[in-house]
Amino acid sequence: MGAKRNPFEIAQEQLDRAAEILNLDHAAHMLLRKPKRELHVLIPVEMDDGTVKVFEGFRVQYNDARGPTKGGIRWHPDETIDTVRALAAWMTWKTAVVDIPYGGGKGGIVCNPKEMSPAEKERLARGYIRALGNFIGPEKDIPAPDVYTDPQIMAWMMDEFSTLRGYYSPGVITGKPIPIGGSLGRGDATARGGMYVLREAAKVLGIDLSSATVAIQGYGNAGQFAHQLVVDMFGSKVVAVSDSKGGIYSEKGLKFEDTVKFKRDNGTVVGFPDTKEITNEELLELDVDVLIPAALEDVITEENAPRIKAKIILELANGPTTPEADIILHNNGKFVLPDFLANAGGVTVSYFEWVQNITGYYWTLEEVHERLDRKMTKAFHDVYEAYKAKNVDPRTAAYLVSVARVAEAMKLRGWIKKVYR
Ligand code: GLU
Repeated sequence: MGAKRNPFEIAQEQLDRAAEILNLDHAAHMLLRKPKRELHVLIPVEMDDGTVKVFEGFRVQYNDARGPTKGGIRWHPDETIDTVRALAAWMTWKTAVVDIPYGGGKGGIVCNPKEMSPAEKERLARGYIRALGNFIGPEKDIPAPDVYTDPQIMAWMMDEFSTLRGYYSPGVITGKPIPIGGSLGRGDATARGGMYVLREAAKVLGIDLSSATVAIQGYGNAGQFAHQLVVDMFGSKVVAVSDSKGGIYSEKGLKFEDTVKFKRDNGTVVGFPDTKEITNEELLELDVDVLIPAALEDVITEENAPRIKAKIILELANGPTTPEADIILHNNGKFVLPDFLANAGGVTVSYFEWVQNITGYYWTLEEVHERLDRKMTKAFHDVYEAYKAKNVDPRTAAYLVSVARVAEAMKLRGWIKKVYR
């Protein structure tokens, strides 16, 4: 396999392709090629052994033409500013494609939470919020969970921000635990939103999901809920799942409850009884109907794309497919449900959470599901229409929809004179 590509270069290349087709105005294009603002911080944290470790963190506010910037915070040992920039760009397209009143942002801390105690994690979470200070806020920039961050971390961050402000400010961050301002339905929202999009795609492609086989790469929040929901909602059969340690395959299908329990008890799915051990690479190339990359970026490349057999690729991860791979998949008749459409359910319910925080009036689970379904279904059909009309791959189609919406907002606000050249 070749060297990993810089994700921000990929994000820029994807935008350039859309700008070309749209005939996007030059100033609009330049404003969308780089983040509007970003902050780099150092966070000193006292570790449990009494030493002080200095962590590096970032917060990128990519574009706020349509509203406050919005996007998660990743804690990962391989985090880089360019990864955060790419993810912030994708958040900008994500909030636009589901048409929620936000821009795009992202944060990151270079750290390995798997090696940290809960107390160390709490001190890091609080230190990050103190370092960001007034750079974030409910009307400015609203973080959320992402890779290796969870509701407890959001709770500490909300508490630290509220302490700084001097009053309870739940709207500063989403993905919080329910008792302190979280929304019902946020937990499985990323996967559930993906299911609504998958349902619509299967309809237009004429694929029967009740007899479909599914492989899922990644067994974190998105991957686990995708397993549960694809079985519960459609009766599909999940034949393979994986995590960072490797994958498992079972021709007769993996039972959700047993697989999750095994993962919880053993820290990995590998070794689950009566399954065949496979690698993460092998999982991607399985002969299944639906492939769900739900881990990290850059896993479907020009090297393995020709061997991908799935008919539909539902990208619950951010950035799993490179631009070279996109072209190969499209030419091979594969239908990619692009990340910023497929996984937009998370930020959509984050938006619902923020609305509930601001109004102080909380919704039922049914209300959340119904409103999420409406948003995702509309977004899919907006993208599908562009896909049909412009004869491009689905990711480019999604870009055409989102970039036009963001550029229109920039024009209305007087940042640019025209949307098109
Ligand atoms: N981290 C999630 C994403 O990439 C959710 C962001 C949010 O809820 O703001 O979409």
